[in-house]
Amino acid sequence: MTLPTQRRLVTTTIPGPESIRLHERRRHELAAGFGTVLPVFVAEAGGGIIVDVDGNHLIDLASGIAVTSVGASHPEVVRAVAEQAERFTHTCLLVTEYDAAVEVAATLNRLTPGDHDKRTALFSTGAEAVENAVKIARTHTGRSAVVVLTHAYHGRTLLTMSMTAKNVPYKEGFGPYAPEIYRVPSPYPFRWAGGGRSPAEVAREALDLLVDTISSQIGAHNVAAIVVEPIQGEGGFVVPPDGYLSGVAEFAGEHGIVFVADEIQSGLGRTGAMFAVDHEGVVPDLVTTAKALAGGLPLAAVTGRAEIMDSVAPGGLGGTYAGNPVACAAALAALRVIERDDLPAKARRIEQLALPRLRALAGPDSWVGEVRGRGAMLALEFCEPGTTRPAPLAAARVSAYCHRQGVLTLTCGTYGNVLRLLPPLVIDEELLDDALGVLEKGVATAAEGGERA
Ligand SMILES: *Cc1c(COP(=O)(O)O)cnc(C)c1O
Repeated sequence: MTLPTQRRLVTTTIPGPESIRLHERRRHELAAGFGTVLPVFVAEAGGGIIVDVDGNHLIDLASGIAVTSVGASHPEVVRAVAEQAERFTHTCLLVTEYDAAVEVAATLNRLTPGDHDKRTALFSTGAEAVENAVKIARTHTGRSAVVVLTHAYHGRTLLTMSMTAKNVPYKEGFGPYAPEIYRVPSPYPFRWAGGGRSPAEVAREALDLLVDTISSQIGAHNVAAIVVEPIQGEGGFVVPPDGYLSGVAEFAGEHGIVFVADEIQSGLGRTGAMFAVDHEGVVPDLVTTAKALAGGLPLAAVTGRAEIMDSVAPGGLGGTYAGNPVACAAALAALRVIERDDLPAKARRIEQLALPRLRALAGPDSWVGEVRGRGAMLALEFCEPGTTRPAPLAAARVSAYCHRQGVLTLTCGTYGNVLRLLPPLVIDEELLDDALGVLEKGVATAAEGGERA
């Protein structure tokens, strides 16, 4: 199936009448706790296009939150899923074995940074991967403390929501939280205390604070793992300045602490390299992957040093659906496409096309306070002009404008004031050009509306 690559609106409002009717039913059947960015019901999707049940063709700048890097219906993924489902859908990796799981593990062992001996453990969701990385690090070290950053997002389970920084909506009302989690400041240059620091100074000061907190408040000998997103996702596409990640890795190495890179959003080509840590040549002890791993099917992994991974005895890791064969078949197809079609290069091309146009939107008189990101992981942070005071309503207004014009954008950020772009890496360049034009007009309208609701 090939979808036309053009934005086309056939109803006067987005969502259209059929989506509105279905959404009304959904309100009575699905739990209210599931929010929806744009309550449009999807009929089909692929490449950079989402076709809704009213026949509107929307441009997809979300990829189902950085999942469908190869598109939402890549023919090779579709074929792999169909072939595997026809043979068997499930046996449980804990009961009998199948080669697709071994092949996914071998591919991740090869693609992740470093040429040391590695092992991979497979799971279904990103949160599970992060939880298991912590379990593995605790077993390996015999220690319990976990160090995470401000603005971090690691998932919605008890442990991972406890590791997540932002209260509403991820934690509010869900306590008590898991113990032994310590938070240090993220090197977020735009919001670094006092301002006026160079990126190198921010990296150094943040590193000093991490070392000081661990040494004086926790004790390095009590820390099992430091878990860092190499580019923070939900927290606002915060890119750590050069020197920070390598400094953390070095400190961790010196103190027998497991350095975990949570590459669930930033990994597998999204930032223009296979992994975001590759930009700084950092080799983590463990890497978590999920999102883009299986072309839209639920699969997640922890990959890392064999001696750390193998410290958990047989039976200690797993799950009924962990490494499901259909998801593994999809992953093998998606990973083949990412490598063969050099999707990291496509991400760099997206950055080349989009970043100059986004940068032109920022400035002292603009509601766009900062433009940042790497590859196809780009964001605009909205602030009151000339300040760093967050302007979430301006971000929401621009996003709503894009939605009305048929461009699906997402927001994020601790203050909800960041508009993020996560197009499929296979997006057609004309489609991207059209979407950026809509976004530019949206930012111009935000200038008129300002921070009024
Ligand atoms: C999405 C995400 C997770 C959680 O993944 P789920 O599959 O939603 O459980 C964890 N870490 C990061 C960095 C993420 O972006």
